[in-house]
Amino acid sequence: AAAPGPGALPQLQPPGFSPESARQDIPILHRTVNGHPLVWLDNGATTQKPRQVIEALGAFYGAANSNIHRGAHTMAREATEMYEAGRSAVAQFLGAGSPDDIVFVRGTTEAINLVAQSWGRANLGPGDDILVATLEHHSDIVPWQLIAKETRARVVPIPLTPEGAIDQDAYADLLSSRTQLVAVSHASNVLGTVPPVKEMTALAHRYGAKVLVDGAQAVAHFPVDVRDLDADFYAFSGHKLFAPTGIGALYAKPEILQAMRPWQGGGNMIESVDFTRTTFAPVPHRLEAGTGHISGVVGLLAALNWFTSFDRDAVAAYETALMTYAQQALATVPGLEVLGSAPERIAVLTFTLAGHDPAGIADWLDRDGIAIRAGHHCAQPALAHYGLESAARASLALYNTSEEVDQLVASLRRLQEAPE
Ligand code: PLP
Repeated sequence: AAAPGPGALPQLQPPGFSPESARQDIPILHRTVNGHPLVWLDNGATTQKPRQVIEALGAFYGAANSNIHRGAHTMAREATEMYEAGRSAVAQFLGAGSPDDIVFVRGTTEAINLVAQSWGRANLGPGDDILVATLEHHSDIVPWQLIAKETRARVVPIPLTPEGAIDQDAYADLLSSRTQLVAVSHASNVLGTVPPVKEMTALAHRYGAKVLVDGAQAVAHFPVDVRDLDADFYAFSGHKLFAPTGIGALYAKPEILQAMRPWQGGGNMIESVDFTRTTFAPVPHRLEAGTGHISGVVGLLAALNWFTSFDRDAVAAYETALMTYAQQALATVPGLEVLGSAPERIAVLTFTLAGHDPAGIADWLDRDGIAIRAGHHCAQPALAHYGLESAARASLALYNTSEEVDQLVASLRRLQEAPE
């Protein structure tokens, strides 16, 4: 069947969710860039913030700023309550059994480094395997390489199929009694692939291996339940979930977390300090040395309240419809090829355009006020799978519309038609 052109799908929004209900809350989406209304299609890099988050930050610094835990005064108590309310909200959002299963970190990168440095250092040794999917972000590859070097374990890539799915037969063959950890994304930031994480986890557990799930790209797109997945670790970044930068969370199963040694030392993480014997606080505090990103947690709490006020299944259905629309519309651009065709995917559309380098494409679109990302997307092995070093990426969120997709496609068509 011929791919419909922009505007050809009349009924895009399933009942229950309209992107306008999200857009109206996000001030930045109403600015112009280079004389055009902003079209933000760089959500894979970071998401835009609703006014509820922006106002929460102002209200915290304007009326509630204090350090937490230590001060014996009203403000410290209030700040502590907000911080811990943020932890409870994250636990609920991820389906964790208790707020104590949540460690605050700067983001996904820090969460994975924490697991590598604390759990990895204690549990990896010579001859052990860490299986890492080829589609992982560098932040789910390099921390494993660093700790593998120290512990003399091995990092073993799990290959991809030509469609950009994780090769499940190869994965099953790689698993063995040597496997200590499997690191896999819940959604790829470059191919959009959503691997069968629950099934992969069940298989890993048969070999006694632990599973770390990188949820950086998943949490803003579909509901997550860490206990249903049976994940041992789950990491995400607040800024890809409508919250500020510099705050994120690590979930770990309670029995694993309780056995984890500190990875950084300082205030907050101790019970008592003595030059002969220092004792550590219980988890999660043991893994949170120093003053945390208190305003970040306040912003994350506001973001979770905002995001979960929408019908999540309706949001996911809308995004799937928008992605299908975008795939069909992009297919009408001569010379454009989208990377990855795994059936289970999120609305991350990485593409090449014949005759144009990705940086040039991003630059051209920017002149029309359209923000996409160009480059290696911190996933060089995934791009190398397609023989590429760089590509352009449009990544959608709940507040994007079919009209914005139309603008992207119209601009790309003009680029293809423009004289050299
Ligand atoms: N993992 C994935 C799949 C990502 O897309 C990203 C960011 O692009 C990260 C990890 C790293 O996130 P952060 O830079 O917020 O730590």
